Amino acid sequence: MLEGRALRRRLNGAAALAVALAIFALDALSPLQGAVAVLYTLVVLMVARNHDRQLVLATSGLGALLAAGAYVVSHGGEPFGSPAMRLAVSLVAIAVTAWLCLRNQAAVQDRLRSEARYRTIFSAAGIAIWETDWSAAHSVLRRGQEPDAAAISRVGQTAVLRDANDAAARLFGLTDRAALIGGTLVAYYTPAAEATLGRIVSALLRGDPVIDEETRFRTAAGTTVDVVLRVTLPPGGDGWSRVLVMALDMTERNRAQAKLAQSQAELTHVSRITTLGQLAASIAHEVNQPLAAILTFANSGKRWLAREAPDAAEVADCLGNIATTATRAADVITRIRDLARRADPKRERVILGPLVDATLDLLRRELQAHGVALHLSGLDGLPPIYGDRVQIQQVLMNLLLNADQAMIATPADQRSLSLEVWHDAETIVLAIRDRGVGIAGNPEALFAPFFTTKVTGLGMGLSICRSIIEQHGGTLVAANNADGGATFTVRLPVTQETPSDHDSARAG
Ligand code: ADP
Repeated sequence: MLEGRALRRRLNGAAALAVALAIFALDALSPLQGAVAVLYTLVVLMVARNHDRQLVLATSGLGALLAAGAYVVSHGGEPFGSPAMRLAVSLVAIAVTAWLCLRNQAAVQDRLRSEARYRTIFSAAGIAIWETDWSAAHSVLRRGQEPDAAAISRVGQTAVLRDANDAAARLFGLTDRAALIGGTLVAYYTPAAEATLGRIVSALLRGDPVIDEETRFRTAAGTTVDVVLRVTLPPGGDGWSRVLVMALDMTERNRAQAKLAQSQAELTHVSRITTLGQLAASIAHEVNQPLAAILTFANSGKRWLAREAPDAAEVADCLGNIATTATRAADVITRIRDLARRADPKRERVILGPLVDATLDLLRRELQAHGVALHLSGLDGLPPIYGDRVQIQQVLMNLLLNADQAMIATPADQRSLSLEVWHDAETIVLAIRDRGVGIAGNPEALFAPFFTTKVTGLGMGLSICRSIIEQHGGTLVAANNADGGATFTVRLPVTQETPSDHDSARAG
């Protein structure tokens, strides 16, 4: 291949020399009165096609010398006249041609160098890059029009890969990039990738020059890869004949994120169970109370039946009370089971008022046992929030239990806990204020994992509460009260959903 090129160059050089000599002979020996020497520009052009800068300069110098030589041979000794003018015109033409050829050569060199740089980046890049020809689809799609499913599928089927680097081959589970070039990616599409293609086509039709998308491809081995795509059109668009696609493999990151989310969910669950463990006595009381009531009603019923003239109405009354109380007990058990169950986070409409009531049902006995006076305000008529009912209840339970525990050293007659709620159109604010020991040092330190001042504490409660609230788009902060104790403030966004969800009714 290299030899062929060298041979071509040599032949081209010889032909140029022959043409130059022929022009000289014509110029020096023929009686033609035209500016024959202008033809040396052809020789310069011939040489410029295959040879470097030096040879172009040498050829134009030789052309000028031959032109001058021919003038001396045929017009030497004559006074200056039109032949001398013709020579001058020819010399200028040769010089201008040489200059233009050299400029063109420099531009071509620049382009080759920049193409080589592009090739190096393209091949050596650690991320997958491929160049696709979408011109077939481009010619049928109308700018400004939303493409339908058939049009998008046609784009996928006609988009041929002009080039792809090694990283692209690895991404699709191939060993050789040649397996991609000249074909389409249809075999690697997942439903997600098809949807992504639709969005990319729409964006290109809108005229977006750069498009970022996250999607999933199938590999040759049948596994899937999650990728972030960047699609670009070269300046001018070029009829979509060179759509450049870069793909960053996110599979590992997504897997790690999923694992992290799972560990967080497990930790949240463990923390909830720990809190429930602390409330065991309260919970037992909540269940025992209706059971004791059921026993009382059952005994009364028996007594009414044992009479000589059994009073059917009274017995029915007792049975009715038993049913109602049993339902209440069942409700308590359901609620506790909901709290204990490990379930994926839900997004549902939650009304905070009934949820606070349900939480206080579990804590009331604990607070009473410690002589804590409870003050509630603003719980009625709250707008709904959107999130996981069990997780929000977990936050309430933690904050209320912490407040109760912070008041262990407070004189019994001063133990008071207030829970105030207020809201505007966008936010619900819930403040839990106690008269306990308060916070020594920076309140933010309390939210660090494993920070605890309790002998049996785990120190995970507040850290988990904050991450739950943040996942719900809210904030949780702590501060000392001017008159002693601490206040924990939760801010949650009000949901924009319409209040039709049956979950709101279940919120308590
Ligand atoms: P734990 O209850 O297991 O210690 P938390 O994360 O719930 O874990 O609480 C961390 C620490 O924050 C507690 O040990 C306590 O020192 C402090 N703290 C929490 N709530 C209050 C409060 N209401 N007043 C003062 N200190 C508090």
